[in-house]
Amino acid sequence: MDTIMVLKFGGSSVANNEKLQLVAKRITKIYDKGDKVVVVLSAQGKTTDKLIKEAKELSSNIPNRELDALLSCGEQMSTAKLSILLNYMGYPAISLTGWQAGIFTTNNNQNANIIRIDTSRILKELNEGKIVIVTGFQGIDENLDITTLGRGGSDTTAVAIAAALHAKNCYIFSDVDGVYTADPNKVENTKKLENLSYEEMMQLSSEGAKVLHNRCVEIGEKFKIPIITKSTFNDKPGTVISDKIEENTIKSIIKKEVSRVSVIGNGIIRNFDLIEKIIDFIKKKELELLNFEISETKISIVFKNIIDDEKINELHELIF
Ligand code: ADP
Ligand code: ASP
Ligand code: MG
Repeated sequence: MDTIMVLKFGGSSVANNEKLQLVAKRITKIYDKGDKVVVVLSAQGKTTDKLIKEAKELSSNIPNRELDALLSCGEQMSTAKLSILLNYMGYPAISLTGWQAGIFTTNNNQNANIIRIDTSRILKELNEGKIVIVTGFQGIDENLDITTLGRGGSDTTAVAIAAALHAKNCYIFSDVDGVYTADPNKVENTKKLENLSYEEMMQLSSEGAKVLHNRCVEIGEKFKIPIITKSTFNDKPGTVISDKIEENTIKSIIKKEVSRVSVIGNGIIRNFDLIEKIIDFIKKKELELLNFEISETKISIVFKNIIDDEKINELHELIF
């Protein structure tokens, strides 16, 4: 049986025509090897933000159904554009919306959950040799109304499709080449992680590291689909999220809101050196605490005051 590759490209990776060309090259390189390719795309750049802003300018009481009808347009534009480009390059590609791809969801607009995927149309197109490009972030509910999956939800579309097609893994291409010890756009000297367990990644996502949508990690774990995050723009090895568990390795620091900081890593509860280091840091900096919680994979600290980027940098430096 041919290998099915599921590749997802985020908004910054498809932001303009030049970037779409790079994405198309990546896809055709894989297709040329003989693999079957399903591509999931986000809306281009800040399209979703722009659509929300424009809707808010029209109304202070936007019907949820109509908001999803509007927001889903972003992904329809990017997928159609990529298909136009691939066809022009001589490749048989087809774009499919959420409903065309058989993605059925719950009816809670803006935060819908995928219930099932009827893969028959995707499989038909793959069997005809096509590159199938599916809109991320959207599906339809039982009334055939359009729903969206929550901000960042295209990751979830991709992993759910990979699970439904029994793909070996799911590639998430982005503007970062993997998951780092902290947000590389905010913290200095961050290091890329080779591996993370599903549990660690779920903690990271739920604490606000937007590199992956947290529901995609849940689906990855449930169906045992390794998620590989890579850069669209270079060939460096990325980060693999799977059920490989490494005890006592500290993985990442995240700042959620202004005063909540979490440190993630399997077995962190038994990492007494680390716990001591963090407590010493808090004392030395005379930081006031509102809460300090430790679980198997996470230390979460809520400070009384705002924690600025400099302190996060110092804490990151101390831990990694
Ligand atoms: P995409 O548009 O491709 O879906 P996102 O913007 O949703 O990409 O996610 C990628 C961003 O996640 C990065 O640009 C980075 O700023 C942010 N991020 C937050 N925490 C981390 C982390 N620990 N490792 C890598 N990136 C992170
Ligand atoms: N376009 C949607 C958003 O901006 C979904 C996604 O990018 O994953 O949230
Ligand atoms: Mg994202």
